[in-house]
Amino acid sequence: MSFSKNVVRLVNEEYENKRIKNEGLKDSRLIEVYSKIPEIRAIDKELSSTGVNILAVAIGSKDSYNEKLAELRARNQELQEKRNQLLIKNGYSEDYTDLHYDCKVCQDYGVNGGKLCSCYKNRLIEEQFKLSGISNLIKTQSFETFSLDLYENKEEMGELLRFAENYVKDFATIKENVLFAGGTGLGKTHLSTAIAKALIEKCYNVIYETAQNIFFDFDNDRFRDRFSDEEPVSQKYLDCDLLIIDDLGSEAINSFTVSCLYNIINTRLNKNLPIIASTNLSSKEIRAKYHDRITSRLFGEFTIKMFHGNDLRKIKK
Ligand SMILES: [Zn+2]
Repeated sequence: MSFSKNVVRLVNEEYENKRIKNEGLKDSRLIEVYSKIPEIRAIDKELSSTGVNILAVAIGSKDSYNEKLAELRARNQELQEKRNQLLIKNGYSEDYTDLHYDCKVCQDYGVNGGKLCSCYKNRLIEEQFKLSGISNLIKTQSFETFSLDLYENKEEMGELLRFAENYVKDFATIKENVLFAGGTGLGKTHLSTAIAKALIEKCYNVIYETAQNIFFDFDNDRFRDRFSDEEPVSQKYLDCDLLIIDDLGSEAINSFTVSCLYNIINTRLNKNLPIIASTNLSSKEIRAKYHDRITSRLFGEFTIKMFHGNDLRKIKK
């Protein structure tokens, strides 16, 4: 399980702000109550001194310790009840001046019993979806919406679907690089998006981006402030658990994009971080378009999955 550092930072800040906000709200509710019901202020003053009194009893004579403690507890309870009654009498709920949490389970700390609270995990996943580049695509393209009925070559598509499902299932142990090849509208994007969505839901840091945009980010980072504390935008393509490169081959090929692609593939291979790339190019076109050092990686290190059939987008129309 891993989330992008930026996502974690963002959500942690959000939780810290939540705690500050709720403390502030509690304080203003208390101020409001004190001004309307001065008696409650006096009660609170006495209640806060109970702790000091208990300590005084503890270090005092041992003989009367239990007796005095019981006395203090009874007084405490009495005050608490009086306080509640006053609140209710004035139209407030008993817990009006308590600290209210957005999430009672983790009290807005994001962790509960050493585990990530589901509220926190869901926020991380939500932000990871935004960062991944598929937040719009997943609405229509997931395993749940993948229908074999739409395809003429059902058997072949069924195998590709099983491959994609197993890819998700075995992701923790098998880090496989995959090249989805075939024409447009054959389901490559749908299956890659489905994989991305399912893995993000399993708390993996998945980035999905077109080849063109990836190279654009690397290009932009060449001119960034070298002394900036912020991580270069392109760093995520090298660090994420799974990088999905859509439409490889649609980018302008030049020495910069070629060295970029080589850097991405090599860096990720060294870190054992897989890539799924999809391309409309045939193997012949790939060889013609890319330098040997790229093609040897693509054909040597990637499992190639071919998509055949007719353009679904045309059939749907
Ligand atoms: Zn929570």
